[in-house]
Amino acid sequence: MTIEYNHLRCIIDLDALCDNYTLLRSRVPETSQVIAVVKADAYGHGLEACAHALESLQGKEGGEPVMYAVGTAEEGANLRRAGVTGRILLLLGIQNPEDTTLCLEHGLTPVLSRVAQISPLAAAAEIVGTSVDIAIKFDTGMARLGLTDADIPDLCKTLDSRPRVEAVWAVTHLATADAPDDEPFVREQAERFADNVAKLHACGHKVYATMANSAGMLGYPEFALDGVRVGIALYGANPFLGTSWEEKGAGLKQVMRVEAPVYQVHALKRGESISYGRTFTAPKDMTVAVLGVGYADGYSRGLSNKAQVQILGKRAPIVGRVCMQMTAVDVTGIPGVEPGQYACLLGGDGEQAITAEELAAWWGTITYEAFCLLGMNRRTYVGKAAQGLDMHQDSY
Ligand SMILES: *Cc1c(COP(=O)(O)O)cnc(C)c1O
Repeated sequence: MTIEYNHLRCIIDLDALCDNYTLLRSRVPETSQVIAVVKADAYGHGLEACAHALESLQGKEGGEPVMYAVGTAEEGANLRRAGVTGRILLLLGIQNPEDTTLCLEHGLTPVLSRVAQISPLAAAAEIVGTSVDIAIKFDTGMARLGLTDADIPDLCKTLDSRPRVEAVWAVTHLATADAPDDEPFVREQAERFADNVAKLHACGHKVYATMANSAGMLGYPEFALDGVRVGIALYGANPFLGTSWEEKGAGLKQVMRVEAPVYQVHALKRGESISYGRTFTAPKDMTVAVLGVGYADGYSRGLSNKAQVQILGKRAPIVGRVCMQMTAVDVTGIPGVEPGQYACLLGGDGEQAITAEELAAWWGTITYEAFCLLGMNRRTYVGKAAQGLDMHQDSY
């Protein structure tokens, strides 16, 4: 799904994505896989394009195919069609019969979170005369999906009776890896997971183990295990920004840049108000630029009177309410702003670039949500890693 009714530019720097992957790769031991988490259309960055870029690293990264994690089987199938040969984990597992079909057809590895999901999958594999690798999700404290300790005997029994299904990975997910103060809970989860995996090994099912997300891998190198699942760091956001562990996430490059055109520039005299509800009144004579972006483009109305944009290299704060397709900014101190120029809502140039963390703070959310929503706009791909990409601009 792509928003196509506006004039926004969402520019994805695939070289930055590759640089982030390489940096993350260098932070974990060779024995640990760096699993690229590309669910939700690669956090709004474009699933196929990001995979295309990461695949170009294969030769340089020691020849091992990159391993991916997607949400749904449909996304997994799309990755296969784009030429991905490495393992693809389905984080949302199997939720309907079509998922099963796609898993078997494309050799996807579903992350199963209930023992009852194993037998139907085995039966389906038997019918088509194939076998299927699975991952087992353990709930160690997130309390979302997954098996608990008590399920392990049943799990082992079921796996033993279903030779067409092979458990190859064990997965758990950390609830507090990005908050240094919550370190004790991370260690608690790690202990539970180690115990789960040991029990699985003890009943004869040797699996690889993965626990860490971006914050987990950057904050706890000792928990890299056999694989780390990196999402947000791959897209250049530091999960520790603003915490005492900020340095651990330094050096990543923001991949997404979003620009909106200037539609009009005009004076706003002292005492005049602007936009719906008259929430901003000019305290002095000002100049404002009206930009072609609004909440219909995923740029939240909650940013009204809060966010800034970068225009001609300088910061311009939003004045008044964000409308459906337009937003006004104060350009009083920025001579030369004209219709047809572009302002950066996210990213930009030099020191004054808008970081995802800043935008998320104004928004009252996290970088993940800002990327997912703004990334629904039409994207253009830039960088050497974009070479050979069918579509430099996607429109579905
Ligand atoms: C989304 C997700 C990740 C990636 O998390 P980041 O914080 O973006 O690195 C890892 N594992 C699972 C199970 C996820 O759902």
